[in-house]
Amino acid sequence: MLYSNSKLSTYENCPWRYKLVYIDKIEKPEKQGIEAFMGSMVHDVLEKCHKDLIVAHRNTVDDLIRFYNIQWDKEWTDEIQIVRKQYKKEDYKNSGEKCIRDYFTRYAPFDKTRTIATEMMVNFPIDEEKKYLGTGFIDRLDISRDNTYEIHDYKTSRNLPTQEKADSDRQLGLYHIAVQTKWPDARDIKLIWHYLIFDKELLSSRTSGQVKQLKTEVMSLIDEIEEKTKELEEDSKGTAAQKIFPANETTLCDWCEFQGQCPKFRHSIIVEALPENEYLKEPGVKLVNKLADLSVKKGEIEAQVEEIEEEMGKIKEAIAAYADKNKLDTIEGKNCSASINRKNILKFPGKNEDGRQELESIIKKEDKWQEVSTLDNHALSRVVSSKSWPAKLLDKILSFGRKESKVEVRLKQMKDSEE
Ligand code: SF4
Repeated sequence: MLYSNSKLSTYENCPWRYKLVYIDKIEKPEKQGIEAFMGSMVHDVLEKCHKDLIVAHRNTVDDLIRFYNIQWDKEWTDEIQIVRKQYKKEDYKNSGEKCIRDYFTRYAPFDKTRTIATEMMVNFPIDEEKKYLGTGFIDRLDISRDNTYEIHDYKTSRNLPTQEKADSDRQLGLYHIAVQTKWPDARDIKLIWHYLIFDKELLSSRTSGQVKQLKTEVMSLIDEIEEKTKELEEDSKGTAAQKIFPANETTLCDWCEFQGQCPKFRHSIIVEALPENEYLKEPGVKLVNKLADLSVKKGEIEAQVEEIEEEMGKIKEAIAAYADKNKLDTIEGKNCSASINRKNILKFPGKNEDGRQELESIIKKEDKWQEVSTLDNHALSRVVSSKSWPAKLLDKILSFGRKESKVEVRLKQMKDSEE
C-alpha cells in the first residue's frame, strides 16, 4: 500500500480521522478552511510561473497577480470556512497576493536553475524489497548547472519552523528518497522550504545516515498502522474501532471536516440541534448533568473532609501535648478514650531526595533489590507504549501482559461555561 507523508501525519495526529479517510474512505464533506484555500491559490500561481518558464514564457508580476485574482474568484465558494473570526476574506486574499509579490521580487528572473517539473507526483519504494511504498507531490523540482537537484516546497503557514525542524522534517526527507530513486545520479540534493508569508527560505539536506534512520522510522510506523488495520478487520463485532483508532482531540479539530462522524464531537452536534426542552431530556445530557452534580457534591464533601482532617490533626497534637505534660498514655473521653503510642519511625530518602541513588545502589549491589522494590505498572505501560526499550525485551515483557477493557469517564468544562 502507498503511504504519503500526509497519510502518516493523519494517523499520528488523529488515528480516528485516519480510519475515516483511509480505511472507511468517507468522502470529505465540502468544508475547507480559508488558510488551505489561500495556500492552494498561491500554489497554483507559483506553478504557473515556473511551468510557463519551462516553455520560455516569462510572466510579469502583474500577470501572476491577475491570474491569482481570477483563480480566487473562480474557485471561491461560500462553503469555505473562516475559523479565525478576527480576520476577513480580504485579509487572506491580500496575504496571498503579498506572498506572490515577495516571491517574485526575491527570485525573478528565475534563471539560477532550470525547472524539471512542477506538482510532480512521485511513487517510490522505501525499502529494497519494495514492501513499503511512499508517495507524494513535489511542488517543484529544479536542477542547477552543477547538477544539484533542488526540491522546492511552498508553505503559506503562519508558523515559521526552526532550522532544526527543517533538518528533521519527514516530508522533505521522503522527497529526498523519491528524487534519489528516480535519478540515481543525484548526488547533491537540496531541500528548500519557502515560507512565503515570511518571505523566508529554509535550506536543508539529508545525509545517507539520516535517510537510513528515516526509512527505519517510516517502516516501523507503517507496520504499526498495518497492524491496527488488521486488528480492525478482525474485530468481527465492530466494537473495538474506537480503541484501535482512538480519536485524538487537538487544536486541529477546529479545521476537521469529520466532526459529525467523530466520537468526540458527534453528540454535541446532535444535541446542539435540539430545542432546549428536548436537549435537557436527552439521555446522554441527563447522565452527564447528573455526574456533574455529583462531582460538585463530592468536591464539597472532600473540602469538608480536608477541613475536618486539619482540625483533627491539631486536636491530636493537643492531646499528645496534654499526655506528655501529664505523663499519660491514655486519656479518657465521654464515650471513648485516646491512647498515645510513642515510637520512632524510620524514614528513607524519597525518589528525588538526596541519598536515594546511593541507597538504591547499595541494596542492588547486595542483590537485595527485589525484596524491597515493586513493579510500577504505569511506568512499565509507558515504556511499552513508547517502545523505549529494545524490541526483543519488549516482546518478552508483552507476553506477560494481558489486555483488559477499562472505560474512564472524565468531566470536562465546556469552553463557553468557563469563568
Ligand atoms: S474532530 Fe478531531 S478528534 Fe475528531 S476526527 Fe477530527 S481530528 Fe480527530
